[in-house]
Amino acid sequence: MREFLMRIGNEWRRAEDGEWFMSMDPYTGRDWARMPRGKAADADAAVLAASRAFRSGPWPSMTASARGLLLNRLGDLIARHAEELAELEVNDNGKLKAEMLGQMRYLPQWFYYYGGLADKVEGRVTPIDKPGVFHYTLHEPLGVVAAIAPWNSPLLLAAWKIAPALAAGNTIVIKPSEFSSASTITFARLCEEAGIPPGVVNVITGFGPEVGEPLVRHPLVARIAFTGSENGGRHVYAAAAENIKRVSLELGGKSANIVFSDADVDDAVKGVVSGIFAATGQTCMAGSRLLVHASIHDEFVSRLVKFMQTAHLGDPRKPETNIAPVSTQPQFEKVLAYFNIARKEGAECVLGGERSRRPGCEKGLFVEPTIFTGVSNSMRIAREEVFGPVLAVLKFETDDEAIAIANDSPYGLAAGVWTRDLQRAMLLPKQLEAGTVWVNAYRLVSYLAPFGGVKASGLGRENGLNAIYEYLEEKSVFINPKPGVANPFVLG
Ligand code: NAD
Repeated sequence: MREFLMRIGNEWRRAEDGEWFMSMDPYTGRDWARMPRGKAADADAAVLAASRAFRSGPWPSMTASARGLLLNRLGDLIARHAEELAELEVNDNGKLKAEMLGQMRYLPQWFYYYGGLADKVEGRVTPIDKPGVFHYTLHEPLGVVAAIAPWNSPLLLAAWKIAPALAAGNTIVIKPSEFSSASTITFARLCEEAGIPPGVVNVITGFGPEVGEPLVRHPLVARIAFTGSENGGRHVYAAAAENIKRVSLELGGKSANIVFSDADVDDAVKGVVSGIFAATGQTCMAGSRLLVHASIHDEFVSRLVKFMQTAHLGDPRKPETNIAPVSTQPQFEKVLAYFNIARKEGAECVLGGERSRRPGCEKGLFVEPTIFTGVSNSMRIAREEVFGPVLAVLKFETDDEAIAIANDSPYGLAAGVWTRDLQRAMLLPKQLEAGTVWVNAYRLVSYLAPFGGVKASGLGRENGLNAIYEYLEEKSVFINPKPGVANPFVLG
């Protein structure tokens, strides 16, 4: 049994009240590590450490170039420890080692990119309309950032917050998911090794209501960057309102993957599979609603079923495995519940629809990859996020109908379009209500490309050039160099 500690200031700490919680390996079904079960006192200590590091010591006096160099050094360390970090992720969330290793090898790019950007943030001198007055703008860091991450891609999604927040000169308190804390704690060790001053990066562990809530409500937290469920996001948004904190919310989705009759069918099948069955369907951007043109519906579904019948479920560490277990017990139960919900609503299950009983899957949280056809867009299986390998298939006849169905959703995180028609490829991205649209591709993300949702999928954007400004406040400075103030009762 491994033991992990929280990082607060320059100390590695247990929870103040000495409590722990266990992390279970979803493949073996066994607890493999214990983490401190933080509470309000631990959140308070971490925020105070971050606040001190923001106001005094080496961090606030460091040049932006020096901060950038530290982030670059951190990127190198992550690259060197990619294997260790990936292994920790697999222990915690049971996702494929191949996917987690790919993520960890890609992760340094966020630190290189935002490290490079740190000293390229410039204010402006304005041609102000006040004679003789000099005006300029500054971009200043906000203070303490609270970063709250989910369990599905723990360190990657935390890094989307950490890298721009630090590049901008803030300090940070990270609260990883209670299901996947190990990689973020280990990341804090790498921050120390990179020479990032104590208190700049703090990690507290525990449950949302116990330690996450006091963190986001803390008066010294200036900004909250949250990725998680819609329900969690609502709590965080309400807490942010109390002290008028800046907030970004990356929440769930029910993204439409639309296959037109002119699509390259082989590519579209692979795209649909990557949209809903990769990562065991546990991605916010899952293409969980498949919209297929009626003329190719039956043929397409049968190709999809055939493709998925060859998928291998099993040990996430083996290279031949395609589908790993569901990551958490509550999530496992939720997916099983949706099998019943979909059947009761009249959807037809053409693949899976049950707990997996394949050899090697007995102890883990495995469900069969599942496809429901005959789905209407008003069914719960088409409206609610399942967050598992469960595809709802809907038919459409015209482009307008496809767009209407895709947009008729409380969510708007992403959408996929499969077509060889140039007009469709050009027009659909504008007509779809989603933060990201892929044409003849799915699940592409990059540190260079903004990511985020509309409607209930969230607020704000992560990644790309503008994300650094989400962690900066613009200040307006007027300097009047000459003596003599005009009429004080009139707006100047
Ligand atoms: P969750 O909301 O249960 O938990 C997310 C994090 O918030 C955890 O660290 C949790 O401890 C914390 N938390 C929960 N309640 C809190 C509260 N009241 N105050 C402060 N913190 C609180 O979500 P989850 O089950 O871990 O993650 C899955 C969800 O995340 C899915 O809905 C998925 O779509 C979404 N997600 C979104 C994106 C995106 O970029 N849009 C990416 C990945 C996952």
